[in-house]
Amino acid sequence: MKLISTRDITNSLTPLEAVLKGIASDGGLYVPAYFPKIDNRFLESLLPLSYPQLASRVMGQYFDIENLEELLTEAYSSFDTKEVAPLHKLTDNNFVMELWHGPTLAFKDMALQVLPRLMSCARPYAGGKDILILTATSGDTGKAALDGFADVEGTKIVVFFPDEGVSDMQKLQMVTQKGDNTFVCSVKGNFDDAQTGVKKLFASEAFAKAAENYRLSSANSINFGRLAPQIAYYFHAYIELVRKNVIKIGDKVNFTVPTGNFGNILAAYYAREMGLPIGRLICASNKNDVLTEFFATGGYNARREFFKTTSPSMDILISSNLERLLFEICGRDDKKVASLMRELSENGYYEITKEMQEGLSVFAAGSADDEKALATIKNVFNKYGYLIDTHTAVAEAVYENYAVYGDKTPNVVVSTASPYKFVSDVLYAVTGERIEEPFTAAKMLSEKTGTALPKQISALETAEIIHKNTSEKEKLAEAVLGFI
Ligand SMILES: *Cc1c(COP(=O)(O)O)cnc(C)c1O
Repeated sequence: MKLISTRDITNSLTPLEAVLKGIASDGGLYVPAYFPKIDNRFLESLLPLSYPQLASRVMGQYFDIENLEELLTEAYSSFDTKEVAPLHKLTDNNFVMELWHGPTLAFKDMALQVLPRLMSCARPYAGGKDILILTATSGDTGKAALDGFADVEGTKIVVFFPDEGVSDMQKLQMVTQKGDNTFVCSVKGNFDDAQTGVKKLFASEAFAKAAENYRLSSANSINFGRLAPQIAYYFHAYIELVRKNVIKIGDKVNFTVPTGNFGNILAAYYAREMGLPIGRLICASNKNDVLTEFFATGGYNARREFFKTTSPSMDILISSNLERLLFEICGRDDKKVASLMRELSENGYYEITKEMQEGLSVFAAGSADDEKALATIKNVFNKYGYLIDTHTAVAEAVYENYAVYGDKTPNVVVSTASPYKFVSDVLYAVTGERIEEPFTAAKMLSEKTGTALPKQISALETAEIIHKNTSEKEKLAEAVLGFI
């Protein structure tokens, strides 16, 4: 298997080299040269497997790594359940896949406990240099990446987060990170400022020169090493529904995904391209509904007001991974992708052709604002006794709205964070009480809902604040160089 760049298909690498490289030097994203095809026999063979075994069968379609199963077993050993990604039944045909049983309580752990291990496998390609991971985060990536890379030999990790735009809990999780190889810094601006700043570092020759003792890489969701582990849990959800006798092998399933940078839902699209029987992919956005508009009109317009919402990990105007979808729907025309991306960076806008729009028919899209999301948390708790976080609530709300139109296909709402990670808003949604102090809110949420307070949260209350750095958005290079 080779991976190729979305902006120049002659630019190709092995998957492990692409994991190391992160983004292609032409600015494009690495995508599989072709999608390995699976059939019903393959799906049947997954039925008796544990999560790491199943994931290794799926990822093995891309990565030729001898001890892949062992690597994945280790990666998921820090999860608080053997099932890794349990499926919770809400109704006869609506299920919730909980992707937040890892060390940082968000779905990013599904990939970021794996990525450092893939990086280790890729070190022979780094020419003996240490690997320097540069990452911008809208909140959850940062902590998950820090946790995954902390004290991993031969690596250093730098995380930039927007000073306004992550929750108190997310911030605390990051600034208390241990490990001599970790550096956490807030950026004055929003997530797009942080992400653009990091992209500029990767493109800067001056920076490359100054950091020449390191091999630069990224832990952002543009890294193929993030995408591949995410493909696996869509197979897992499907197989779980077969095990629960909800479907037979070959039947279709829909997925509703709370979407930001488009990585999670793109993995579902990849699973479908490989042959997993998926009906619809329902793309859920919050008030930052640039994707909803894109799926409805074929126009991508980032020139719009940016809203801070109660689902901050989805507060994004430029969904980087959408580039990989564009590549597929234009028939893998690298010139076309490069020109659309140029339009986006120059004008903040692009429009796809009618032909390309036809390739989007597998998607449905909708958005839910804060009011709707909070009402959904309350309603799901009262009706089913099940607590969801603000991001999952956006997806559930969008799914409920979609289901009104009569699609009876079994659906899986992809749940991306523990309700305790966005605790003040969840508490407010369920009880009407507003408590900003996260630990008080968490204890109260646990009492009022009879749900367990995760250990990861209680441990934070007394953790020492280690990282106190702040940077202007134009000065990220200085910040990194100061650290290394
Ligand atoms: C990152 C994140 C998302 C968005 O996922 P993308 O892959 O960026 O679309 C949604 N919810 C939570 C809790 C997240 O951490």
